[in-house]
Amino acid sequence: MNDIMLEVRDLTKHFPVSGSKRQVVHAVDGVSFQVPRGKTLGLVGESGCGKSSCARTIIRIYDPTSGQIILDGQDITHLTQRQLIPLRRNIQMIFQDPYASLNARMTVRDIIEEPLRAHKVCATAREADELIYEMLDRVGLSKEHANRYAHEFSGGQRQRVGIARALILHPKVVICDEPISALDVSIQAQVVNLLKQFQEEQGLTYLFIAHDLSMVRYVSDEVGVMYLGKLVELCEANEIYDHPLHPYTQGLLAAIPIPDPQLARAKTASSIEGDIPSPISPPSGCRFHTRCPRATPLCSQVEPVMADVGGGHRVACHLFSQCTP
Ligand code: SF4
Repeated sequence: MNDIMLEVRDLTKHFPVSGSKRQVVHAVDGVSFQVPRGKTLGLVGESGCGKSSCARTIIRIYDPTSGQIILDGQDITHLTQRQLIPLRRNIQMIFQDPYASLNARMTVRDIIEEPLRAHKVCATAREADELIYEMLDRVGLSKEHANRYAHEFSGGQRQRVGIARALILHPKVVICDEPISALDVSIQAQVVNLLKQFQEEQGLTYLFIAHDLSMVRYVSDEVGVMYLGKLVELCEANEIYDHPLHPYTQGLLAAIPIPDPQLARAKTASSIEGDIPSPISPPSGCRFHTRCPRATPLCSQVEPVMADVGGGHRVACHLFSQCTP
């Protein structure tokens, strides 16, 4: 059995800019990571940093520009959409917006049954019903919800339906693309706990995408931080909170709201200023140099490479050894 369930090597995805023959959007640029079987990698960064493009390229909604995607030991990078069909039941996605991702004209039963039908899992409608009702029960809904429409549910309930649809095929890998961002804070923990419960019961492997570091700690074994298409730091989850090395990671952590006003004031001093630059023409050298409080002349000229600074903690920064907060 392969211990690494999902691996991407030097994954790159560029999108053409409409009306231009030469310009491209550098959505994902040379990203590499591994997710062990049954574990969770949290992928974090501001909007526009490339994390969702990375997820959609891994699941082959987008074709990669270059690099490799390896799912449970099988290289799926160049498989055709037809060849991917049987593999799709092994890798599923939970989407960010439970309002937009569920078809308003379908009942909950039909929504959850769709993947069962696509993969011809059940021989009879009765068999499908049994699986659907069991799954509704497992996500905290009931048989009575099956004939209702998505618009009749709250955001948290809709995300439970999205989880039921993604997990009914017992996939090996689930890509959770900001699954809690659109939900009330009070509901976020419930959805996270539900995902964790499924992981324990089924040994699922998660790639969990989020735009801030606050909730990721509770779901992730490792956390990767992306900035403008690049992975800039990757390490064990507690390590990234206790010893963040990259100035961008430090800025993201400083942006997490904290209830103590004195501590909050101290943290604001190191939060990130300015907007993320255009991914069509990313800055030279280190892409973060236009916003980095510690940038030196070298940073705009030479791109830092990802280096292991010990214990599997990897960071791409010329000054990483001096960047402790
Ligand atoms: Fe900042 Fe330079 Fe490190 Fe980039 S390489 S994060 S600009 S110090």
